[in-house]
Amino acid sequence: MISRTKATIRGIVQGIGFRPYIYNLAREKNLCGYILNTSQGVEIEVEGAAAQIDSFFNAVENNPPPLAHIASIEKTTLPPARYREFNIKESVVQSGRNTLIAPDVCVCDACLREMWDPSNRRYRYPFINCTNCGPRYTIIEDVPYDRPFTSMKSFQMCEQCLQEYHDPANRRFHAQPNACPVCGPQVMLFDARRNLISSGDPILHAIELLKKGYILAVKGLGGFHLAVNPENTHAVLQLRERKNREEKPLAIMAASLGRIKTFAHVTPLAEALLTSPQRPIALLPAKTPSGISPAVAPKNKFIGVMLPYTPLHALLLENDLPGLIMTSGNLSEEPIVIENEQAFERLGSIADYFLLHNRDIYLRSDDSVVRITDRKKRIVRRSRGYVPQPIFLHKPYPPILACGAELKNTICLTKGRHAFLSQHVGDLKNLESFNFMKLTVSHLKRILDITPEIIAYDLHPNYLSTQFALEQPCNQKIGVQHHHAHIASCMAEYGIEDPVIGLAFDGTGYGTDGKIWGGEILLVDGVRFERLAHFSYTPMPGGDAAIREPWRMAMSCLFCVFGESCLDLKLPLLQQIETNRLGIILEMIRKGINCPETSSLGRLFDAVSAILGICTRSSYEGQAAIMLEMALNEAADDTPYQYSWEKKEDTYLISPSPIISAVVNDYLAGEAPAKISYRFHQTLIHLFRDLCAQLRQDTGLDRIVLSGGVFQNETLLTGLQQTLEKDGFSVFSQEAVPTNDGGIALGQAMVANAALSAN
Ligand code: ZN
Ligand code: ZN
Ligand code: FE
Repeated sequence: MISRTKATIRGIVQGIGFRPYIYNLAREKNLCGYILNTSQGVEIEVEGAAAQIDSFFNAVENNPPPLAHIASIEKTTLPPARYREFNIKESVVQSGRNTLIAPDVCVCDACLREMWDPSNRRYRYPFINCTNCGPRYTIIEDVPYDRPFTSMKSFQMCEQCLQEYHDPANRRFHAQPNACPVCGPQVMLFDARRNLISSGDPILHAIELLKKGYILAVKGLGGFHLAVNPENTHAVLQLRERKNREEKPLAIMAASLGRIKTFAHVTPLAEALLTSPQRPIALLPAKTPSGISPAVAPKNKFIGVMLPYTPLHALLLENDLPGLIMTSGNLSEEPIVIENEQAFERLGSIADYFLLHNRDIYLRSDDSVVRITDRKKRIVRRSRGYVPQPIFLHKPYPPILACGAELKNTICLTKGRHAFLSQHVGDLKNLESFNFMKLTVSHLKRILDITPEIIAYDLHPNYLSTQFALEQPCNQKIGVQHHHAHIASCMAEYGIEDPVIGLAFDGTGYGTDGKIWGGEILLVDGVRFERLAHFSYTPMPGGDAAIREPWRMAMSCLFCVFGESCLDLKLPLLQQIETNRLGIILEMIRKGINCPETSSLGRLFDAVSAILGICTRSSYEGQAAIMLEMALNEAADDTPYQYSWEKKEDTYLISPSPIISAVVNDYLAGEAPAKISYRFHQTLIHLFRDLCAQLRQDTGLDRIVLSGGVFQNETLLTGLQQTLEKDGFSVFSQEAVPTNDGGIALGQAMVANAALSAN
């Protein structure tokens, strides 16, 4: 009995070795028929014994190629057609671009084995790749994903490479970046004065320079890294000084899991993340002491680690380097450098040597960052390896462009059931980042073939992303409140439609009353939200300056609680800051000069951190809050401090004063900051638990959504989520989408969709 089945498979099924996989699988199962790439995905027909057909689809569903992502398989049974063999049919060009583009992925094991094999023609070739691995998104100029539309177009394949490329049984069948030492890209080593260093093998030479403590700019997959030996404190400090990066932790790339285990604690989940094809940076608990210089992640319990993800990285780590610091090749907050010429210009004052190559990067993509909280993977920065893989929506959306926030900007485009959250764009405070944002929008619109019907943006009138949105020629636009978007982002991630109680805690977001929000409990119901509760307003002396200098927030909180006598408190903070500066700040608070008001929980963390003398000046975003959490001692007394709120009209106002007062009293009574920090965290957990119980009574809702940058605090997130779940709430916190402002664009898109369907 001969059976014949036709199937349409949608998802990420092109450009990732799907056709050779199907070809080989069909032959193995003695099936005839064909496979064809279409704009929808792939079309397959198989004919043969029914049992073999079942086992064929079983394998496709359960064991597809590593980079495939199958969204759906639609099957129909047809009368036999008497096929005589299995073929790969030539693709027909169709209108509509519905095929998903694969992200960049790490070099596969098969390629690595060939690279280390002295008899292989690609022995030690740093650009080896196949259909299962290598660059994708970062080298694509346009679709369809074919070599002429990638940065490989300038390299003509040699005969041997062409043969592989055309052989359906070969791992390199239609591998667009296929290359070898004869025909493909090459690496070159230069000094900072652009002199080519021609002696021997540039990679071996680079390793020697790294061992000596030099700083190298290394061109990678999605942009440049600055590389330095992590055991050499002098070199690390020099990198920090030249890059003007005081204390922000630096990530380390190490050759193997074994190496990583010498300086970080690796759980099985962490191991799975580190070795996943996305190869993100994982933030893991650091082992101390270890060989790694303390200057890599000062005062931090965590260390960012990753495994090599390109053949070039693997070659750089082949000798006995303990690992490499691989930090973004950029000047402070600018986007990472991707062009060779730009590298000399921008990084010339930082790097001593430049390891370059001649394969162009079309679209930059920073390393992704993940952490593990409450035994779950949480994406902190969703970029290389994940983008442009879509977030799958629970229902189809119209074409929407969401422009994101200002910090950690990403943009989002939707189409059908897919939300395409862009790679990390960065902080839109400088022109370079803004240009990159505009480029990302136009590039994604083109390759995904999306013309937005509605544009969503943040309510902050001064954000460049807002100004960009307002300038676009599109009839429908919607401003979305920042914390509304945070909660919606989490709702979109889990496909939640019904109203929720949303706890949106972060540093800054523009409120509908023109004030700076950030400690908000909202009722979110699609396009509508209601402010159920928030922290009462505290002045931020100097506006943004209060973010960089947490001691200003401390003074503001102290003044609210103790009035004029706050200067008499025996706090080290008051000795550290010059008397006249303290005087000026108090005068600003008294008179309300340049003191925008905020309800931000992030700023409350800053104030407590500064009062305890843990961090009075912040050299990177969130530092004071991070240091406060790093300082806590979990063995300490967990009794919460007193807390209170009052009801004003329909809103509960949470007062920070009793908490500040208790923190100061405990400190003056000689309690260790480690204990106070722990009690402070416990206080917040108890406070929100009680308040949520009250809100459940008021609203009848028992679904809680947690979002906002403050939830990167592990103690707060884990403690609160577990407590609320014990109380019978369903609690949702973000995993696949960043809880920080990197996830805002998805939330904006969800609100825009709700607005459209409400009309
Ligand atoms: Zn490969
Ligand atoms: Zn070749
Ligand atoms: Fe935010």
